Amino acid sequence: MIKAKKSLGQNFLTDRNILEIISNITPINNKTILEIGPGTGNLTSFILKKNPKKIFVIEKDNDLAKNLNSTFKDQLTIINDDVLNIDENLLFNEKVTVFGNLPYNISTEILTKWIINLKDNFWFDHLVLMFQKEVADRIIATYNKSTYGRLSILANWKLNVKKICDIKPKSFSPKPKVDSSLLFFSPKQDFHKIKNPKNLEKITRIFFSQRRKMLKKPFNQLFNGDKKILDKLQIDLNLRPQNLDFNTYYKLTSEYEKLRS
Ligand code: SAM
Repeated sequence: MIKAKKSLGQNFLTDRNILEIISNITPINNKTILEIGPGTGNLTSFILKKNPKKIFVIEKDNDLAKNLNSTFKDQLTIINDDVLNIDENLLFNEKVTVFGNLPYNISTEILTKWIINLKDNFWFDHLVLMFQKEVADRIIATYNKSTYGRLSILANWKLNVKKICDIKPKSFSPKPKVDSSLLFFSPKQDFHKIKNPKNLEKITRIFFSQRRKMLKKPFNQLFNGDKKILDKLQIDLNLRPQNLDFNTYYKLTSEYEKLRS
């Protein structure tokens, strides 16, 4: 009998209808799949039914990794490690489709790591990921919404994002305290070129550190009040950080990089 570990965010998805929905979102047949945090293998079994070419799974919990090994034998390539330690760019020689009912305590860290480290030839073609609903709302938010912020700007930089559905706690065991949402991501063919994604993180961190205040202070801190940039990007400093759309943040990052080059 497996006892769920809270510290590893273990809420196992047991609702067969939801497992069916997840495994039908994108074609699996003959594809290479990566599953993050397979746990007891509930979703893994549904993925296997669709005849993937190969499944890699990354599971941090040693007991669960052993359990998966004895249940699924050689049907899986099990990586018994922390997903945050893995460089997926080096792991695969073809594009993979990623599934994951993510551990909620590190879900934003995982997504941020993937986007920051992405090379131009993406290592995945789709991501099918479950988040805590409140985090999913931040990822899919657009400007002028109260949930718009750093995570929406980063995620929408290189990825198209779509919400599939919300999922209630009763679909999991043990039940989490919060609602969940399933998101579907695919790479953008065309995205604004930024030299170092860490600069986008820095710009959004400084702008959103005081999200209710006007843009004047963070703009002056980063750009020394440069009026040419304001005119070029048509920014009104009396607005607030959440009023600037995605592209303005990407362009601001490029201007910041030009100033430093
Ligand atoms: N996919 C399973 C399901 O839906 O029933 C389990 C999902 S559970 C929310 C999260 C899983 O991620 C757990 O199995 C947990 O042990 C694993 N996990 C937690 N932290 C991890 C990490 N840093 N790297 C890899 N796996 C992790």
